[in-house]
Amino acid sequence: MLSERHTPDSIILPALPYSQSALQPVISANTLGFHYGKHHRAYVDNLNKLIAGTAFADMPLETIIGATAGKPEHVGIFNNAAQTWNHTFYWNSMRPKGGGEPPETLKRKMESSFGGVEACKKELAKVAIAEFASGWTWLVQDGEKLRIVKTANADTPLTQAFKPLLTIDVWEHAYYLDYQNRRGDYVNALIDKLANWQFAAENLELA
Ligand code: MN
Repeated sequence: MLSERHTPDSIILPALPYSQSALQPVISANTLGFHYGKHHRAYVDNLNKLIAGTAFADMPLETIIGATAGKPEHVGIFNNAAQTWNHTFYWNSMRPKGGGEPPETLKRKMESSFGGVEACKKELAKVAIAEFASGWTWLVQDGEKLRIVKTANADTPLTQAFKPLLTIDVWEHAYYLDYQNRRGDYVNALIDKLANWQFAAENLELA
């Protein structure tokens, strides 16, 4: 487990929920080392530099995201804050020996929204593979229904009316060392072998 590095009152880089080699062979320790240790850490470090001495300095991460979304003068803070949040959510969206059957509550939602678990997974893969350039693909809850949505660059469904359940990072840095341009192989392997449906089910808001 990687240690956290932070000072009081700063946004912290949460520890990975598993070891850097735990997602092999789907995601190599090398990819995870760069993605978590360099990219995610850089977003956190940049954010802390940008908010130091500003009104955002003492805010929780989600508050910063809400307060800066759609504001051109705060785009740097928004991008780094949203990428900090999105990556932590992404690590939790995967687990070693993931994939398989979703918990019953989530399964029923997938069936009523997509016609079945396989149809939901297929739609998730389709949108993730088709997403142009850098961004994220999400399974979200939209009221009674589940939907697949994509966000570009750092954008996050947190600023929309959706409840995020699970995400796939489709920035090239998420897969290029292992798969080069074969995004489809990365996306399908992640859904089949790593998807943390338990985490997604825990995020459901049940009426
Ligand atoms: Mn990433």
